[in-house]
Amino acid sequence: MEFRILGTGSATPQLQRNPSAFVVTVDNFLILIDCGEGTQFRLLQYKIKVSRLRYILISHLHGDHYFGLIGLLSSLNMQRRTEQLDIFGPQGLDEIIYQQLKYSGSILNFKLQFHVTNPNTFDEILNNDCLKINTFPLKHRIDCTGFLVTKKSSKRKILAEKLPENFPVTFFKMLKEGMDVQDELSGKTYKNADYTIEGSHEKQLAYCSDTIFDESIVDYIKNADLLYHESTFLEEQAERAKFTFHSTAIEAATIAKTSNAKRLIIGHFSSRYKTSEHFLVEAKTVFEDSFLAQEGENFII
Ligand SMILES: [Zn+2]
Ligand SMILES: [Zn+2]
Repeated sequence: MEFRILGTGSATPQLQRNPSAFVVTVDNFLILIDCGEGTQFRLLQYKIKVSRLRYILISHLHGDHYFGLIGLLSSLNMQRRTEQLDIFGPQGLDEIIYQQLKYSGSILNFKLQFHVTNPNTFDEILNNDCLKINTFPLKHRIDCTGFLVTKKSSKRKILAEKLPENFPVTFFKMLKEGMDVQDELSGKTYKNADYTIEGSHEKQLAYCSDTIFDESIVDYIKNADLLYHESTFLEEQAERAKFTFHSTAIEAATIAKTSNAKRLIIGHFSSRYKTSEHFLVEAKTVFEDSFLAQEGENFII
């Protein structure tokens, strides 16, 4: 699983920072988390294949987290996308998008499936063979959810080069599931340990979009391999952070420490700060494995 940063700014437009948008790569498909204004240009800039985009997760309806959505959808349509796209977001998002499509006379070639997120509780919104996604409540000025993306552990990997050429295909499943195989025709036993290796372990990414410092979220995101947490202000603006329902770098780091995250990425920097280094200095006083969100950067989880 990979986590790429497309935007590190907050609500006020900034020339040196773009608004929130992040791409998660799982196997061969993509998940877009938040879609601030101009996200489609960042996708072009970093040569990200939008044809592989499968899910879009929107945390809340402040413009810096979704104003890029209609532009991206229109462009996907012009690229003749036909595959269904699932969008998970707050109540009202579907209405906004459908109105924009209606009054621009746009008819999509692909199916848009909206799923309304619940801002009040920990909720499972997706669960398939390789992936699980949960939402959890954040405390912001309007309804807002965080996302917990879990890439499931994979089954055992077969060492195909060790198997005989005529090894029956029907036995592959048994090997993947960790069983020994008894071939009654040849009388040979294939010991699982000789022909497979362990699959990949479960990995978790926790995404905390705009929120006031709120230790109750720790319960939802314990032991995440990677935690992204907003860090709009430095400590000197701690009061302003509270007043605007945002967090400081130290508060983000405190969440990382208390939840036992392996790594922390901080972003969503206020336009009042022209450089970001001080955010990292403050975060590291609480949590050593802190990193600054930098646009274009890709974290392997
Ligand atoms: Zn924001
Ligand atoms: Zn916001």
